[in-house]
Amino acid sequence: MSPARKPQPHEAAAALNTNYLRCRDLGHAWEDYTAEWAGEAFRVTVVCYRCDARRTRFVQRNGFYAEKHGGYDYPKDYQVPEVNLRNTEGRAAVRFELLNRQGVIYGKKVSHIGNGKRRA
Ligand SMILES: [Zn+2]
Repeated sequence: MSPARKPQPHEAAAALNTNYLRCRDLGHAWEDYTAEWAGEAFRVTVVCYRCDARRTRFVQRNGFYAEKHGGYDYPKDYQVPEVNLRNTEGRAAVRFELLNRQGVIYGKKVSHIGNGKRRA
């Protein structure tokens, strides 16, 4: 039996939802700002309209961050723990896959990427 082969960046990128690829390439598109008092600071939450990632920060009344910093929550299939898509090779794989879905690499002309739904 051979050991499980680690997926390559281009394979991991090809398996991702288009919206996830766009957020990885362009950064998240934050909106839906909410703030609620959480005992010692405001819990400020924003949501990405493309991928539903959530960013939470804790902000004091004076605007400085509280000691508790918050963090990010991603949709369950956003992260690909076995492959680094944030290094140079991984980011290139993400950009390549977006171009590939636009059909520009192999000569097809498509004006937009689409609705982000996973292809069958
Ligand atoms: Zn996003």
